[in-house]
Amino acid sequence: MFIQESPQQTLKESSSFTVAKFGGTSVADFQAMLRCAHIIKNDNSNRLVVVSASAGVTNYLVRLSKKNISVVEQTEIITHIGTIQFNITQHLSNVIVQTLNAEITALLDELSVHALKQSQQYSAKQGDAILSFGEQLSSRLFAQVLQSIGVNSAYFNVQQVMKTNSLYGKAVVDIEQLASACSEWLTPKFTKQVIVTQGFIGQDGLGETTTLGRGGSDYSAALLAEALNANNLAIWTDVVGIFTTDPRITEQARAIKEISFGEAAEMATFGAKILHPATLIPAMRKNIPVFVGSSKEPEKGGTQIKQVVASSPTYRSIALRREQTLVTVKSPAMLHASGFLAKVFSILAKHELSVDLITTSEISVALTFDNPSGSTQALLTSAVVQELEQLCEVTVEHGLSLVAVIGNGLDSAKGIGQSIFNTINDVNIRLICHGASANNLCFLVDEQDANNVVEKLHNELFT
Ligand code: ADP
Ligand code: ASP
Ligand code: MG
Repeated sequence: MFIQESPQQTLKESSSFTVAKFGGTSVADFQAMLRCAHIIKNDNSNRLVVVSASAGVTNYLVRLSKKNISVVEQTEIITHIGTIQFNITQHLSNVIVQTLNAEITALLDELSVHALKQSQQYSAKQGDAILSFGEQLSSRLFAQVLQSIGVNSAYFNVQQVMKTNSLYGKAVVDIEQLASACSEWLTPKFTKQVIVTQGFIGQDGLGETTTLGRGGSDYSAALLAEALNANNLAIWTDVVGIFTTDPRITEQARAIKEISFGEAAEMATFGAKILHPATLIPAMRKNIPVFVGSSKEPEKGGTQIKQVVASSPTYRSIALRREQTLVTVKSPAMLHASGFLAKVFSILAKHELSVDLITTSEISVALTFDNPSGSTQALLTSAVVQELEQLCEVTVEHGLSLVAVIGNGLDSAKGIGQSIFNTINDVNIRLICHGASANNLCFLVDEQDANNVVEKLHNELFT
């Protein structure tokens, strides 16, 4: 099928400015991209489009960025990525397909060079260069799909404005520089064109490619919305909004019509994959409402995330974060002593590890870490454990999941613990954090119990 619809649309002035982000499944193939292109075309306020890599591509790139990948495997992976992307170009008109295919081939060749270098001499820097190709490819394709339905659109390299430090795998963006670079390079373009750019990637002071962490395109879009003073941020994904829990876990999960920034931020922090954990920080700073909806079913509406909402229920949702590691450090020297925790944390800080939950007793401390496979960030390695062992006795447990009940007044409402823990009294609970926040109560369970716990709790608290 070759698409070439109406002649180029001339852009009408719109008083509202929306940054629209499309996730991996939304740009997975040509049909998905076409649906998203129509979403942009149908609402003139959409001026900046931020895209993720086509579904599956970043996972392939993560494999490619690892140590010791054979040349045969490299070729195989790059061929798979090429197939996903060329399957999209074949639907576009002959006029552009040749140029576009040449562009993609050139990118894939560049990717092979990086992959070869990486297998010869591994570096985290090279790893980020490799990971960036997914978004580089999908953004070029999406700009052409928009053109094909008559939207005057252009590709923009986000690295021109998204300047970061050199923490490869989890780079930190220079927000001030982003704002000034956006006014200089991006704002002037919006009167004429819809701009399509990449989520997830940036560039450090050395001109090297960086990435913001897995799932980071949501965060990129929010940072751009903030820098551009957008009126709205729309996150288009594969579900019709934010649900009371992951709809993949229970069919009972229902979409939430509106939710406060604080509640949604808690959900994201505690693992609701729907939003990257940092997404709402820029939106909150500038009070930019965020919409979450399905690019497959835009007519079904979605969730509005905003500062003030009509209701603040005790229970809003349940989030689940898998692949947690629990580290217990124990030292009799801790009894009546000061400075032990500071020493533990300085080791963790040196290795750029961040702790999620913490509970302490007289002589021991339990800490949890997010340790997902496929992550590009610093993980708890045996080197860290060895360093901690110089200080104290260390026990490491993997295979745990963090369940977080999110809501309002959870630190003070009566009977909360009873309702929650009575429901799951047959489950082994490894650690509980309650009281530090009014908005969450969290605990750790074995990975194999996690879905069951969420389902049961959801039944008890939401139906
Ligand atoms: P994208 O590629 O669009 O960024 P993600 O896969 O990162 O999409 O996020 C969408 C997925 O998040 C959904 O398919 C759903 O399974 C999962 N998810 C987890 N928790 C929730 C929740 N509370 N509400 C909706 N979706 C959730
Ligand atoms: N493509 C990146 C990832 O898969 C970023 C994103 O999708 O948000 O992690
Ligand atoms: Mg995502």
